[in-house]
Amino acid sequence: MKRSREAFVAALRSAGLRATATRLAVLAALRRQPHAGTDTVIRHVRTELGTVSTQAVYNVLAALVEVGLVRRIQPAGSVALYELRVGDNHHHVVCRKCRAVADVDCAAITRPCLTPSEAYGYLLDEAEVTYWGVCPACQAESGLIRPPGPVDEAAIHRNNPIEGGRTWPTPLPRPPVRVSPC
Ligand SMILES: [Zn+2]
Ligand SMILES: [Zn+2]
Repeated sequence: MKRSREAFVAALRSAGLRATATRLAVLAALRRQPHAGTDTVIRHVRTELGTVSTQAVYNVLAALVEVGLVRRIQPAGSVALYELRVGDNHHHVVCRKCRAVADVDCAAITRPCLTPSEAYGYLLDEAEVTYWGVCPACQAESGLIRPPGPVDEAAIHRNNPIEGGRTWPTPLPRPPVRVSPC
């Protein structure tokens, strides 16, 4: 814990910020709980420091994002979430049911997602990719985890709420090839 505090002090100083108690407590909160929303950060900071105003925590988060020590993400339908893992262009997987968030590295180390098929002359520095799905805990809760052994694929799709309880459609038969007479 002591070592991480020293690292936070050094990081704040090299970003040109004084190592205030609130800034250190916000960084410690995000170390404990990555992808935390403002409410969670405030709760952690108050546990550590006692009375701290909501506005003070908002200001600290904004300043830390500004200097690049904290990354702010906002998946669709979610509040803003904050994390210490910055500058590596990693992506996120979000659970549709409980909104749990986990980090996902680029599929290839070389950030291929920063090389789109067309950049339109833009100088790109970030690709925000969000994978959506159902986390293991929510799968277990709704009986979606695959049992070991032979799998009844049709039953899995019938029980999957994301698929609306429908089974995969069977492909349509190909139309007969018509040969036009000469
Ligand atoms: Zn979930
Ligand atoms: Zn992340």
